[in-house]
Amino acid sequence: MIEDILKYNAQFVAEKKYEKYATTGQPTRKLAVLSCMDTRLTELLPKAMGLRNGDAKFIKVAGGTMLSPYDSVIRSLLVAVYELGCEEIMVVHHSDCGLCHLEAQHFIDLMKQRGVSDEALAEASKHVDLENYLSGFEDIEEDVRRIVTAIQHHPLMPRQFVVRGFMIDSYTGELSEVK
Ligand SMILES: [Zn+2]
Repeated sequence: MIEDILKYNAQFVAEKKYEKYATTGQPTRKLAVLSCMDTRLTELLPKAMGLRNGDAKFIKVAGGTMLSPYDSVIRSLLVAVYELGCEEIMVVHHSDCGLCHLEAQHFIDLMKQRGVSDEALAEASKHVDLENYLSGFEDIEEDVRRIVTAIQHHPLMPRQFVVRGFMIDSYTGELSEVK
């Protein structure tokens, strides 16, 4: 797959297909979007929101969720707000997300099947609480509310900016606000 991509890339550049994507690093719509890495959303999410290349900062992680108030998700949002001028943040979870009901024990079983030893798991446990680290969320809308609140009240966020939470339908792209 990677070899195919490299071949395609050489052609893409040679044919100057990049020209229509030219933009600056500053988001023109002053917007940051936190969402899931789900492949159903790769094109659907920006298209359904009317966002084009250069319009917004997309922060995409498994589940579109944050693990702690100082994880890389929040760090990225801080960069988006202070360094890149974002004035609004949308937290967008999606229907049928794989992170919903993900269980740490199931995850650990899969790791063991792929050769991860008990010693390696014990070593990892010194750095993170594996139960928390490898679990998803039980209630998607509740997780949206939790993240919106955490961003709103984050000590390093400015006092005035907009953050709102949404669900997007993974098939139709319909957005609905989570209040
Ligand atoms: Zn997801």
